Amino acid sequence: MVNCKKSSDSSTPTTTTGDVDITSVVQAKFGNTITNAVTVSTSGSSIIIKSDGRPNHKSPYWGASNANYEAFQSGHGANPSLIGVQNYTMTIPAKPAAASTHEATSLFAIGMALNGVPIFNDQEGPSTTLDVGKISSLDKAGAHPAQSSDYHYHVTDYDGTYTTNDDAKLVGFLRDGFPIYGRKDKDGTYPSNLDAYNGHTGATTEFPNGIYHYHTRNENYLNTGYYILKSGSYYGTKGTFTQ
Ligand SMILES: [Zn+2]
Ligand SMILES: [Zn+2]
Repeated sequence: MVNCKKSSDSSTPTTTTGDVDITSVVQAKFGNTITNAVTVSTSGSSIIIKSDGRPNHKSPYWGASNANYEAFQSGHGANPSLIGVQNYTMTIPAKPAAASTHEATSLFAIGMALNGVPIFNDQEGPSTTLDVGKISSLDKAGAHPAQSSDYHYHVTDYDGTYTTNDDAKLVGFLRDGFPIYGRKDKDGTYPSNLDAYNGHTGATTEFPNGIYHYHTRNENYLNTGYYILKSGSYYGTKGTFTQ
């Protein structure tokens, strides 16, 4: 037997950003069993994801007469808008790479969850961060619609039945093409070497050879039981997200 292992070989992948093509994972993972309105196509070195922005799960924001309606959790409610049909197009690089300068995320969509719902950061218009009052308008999935009936996630979900709670689930992809996961790595531990963008390079279930990926922030936000999905700057260069 020839031992092919290099002396530096270990369980830590050596992938550098820009090497990993995310196309097949994006094609396999995006979808919406309720609205069937998420499509993935490719154009050159870009991937184009289109969505009508409605979730694939229950929410009070479908409205009481809708089959997908469920009540708010205790202490929550109040946002007057309901879920409405949108026309989203997110264009991301097939091979996401680190940017030389790291642009801050801002209000509006910073990425898209696998069901086609936009991911927002910790900001709420106009230019304020989420406070306990705004958090009280989030449903069990950690989302609410804004004035244009544009439903969006800010935080993890309430009990683990929607996007992510205390796990290593793939939530979606940010506009720079890098995937975002729950608070844990696939070995069940909380990562301890996250960078300023709350990410690191390592193996995930979907990318077993390693990829740079974000994690949900492992901080009980304002003691609400919710965890901010992403705040701060992008690691890579953001693509377009049109409405
Ligand atoms: Zn919001
Ligand atoms: Zn990780």
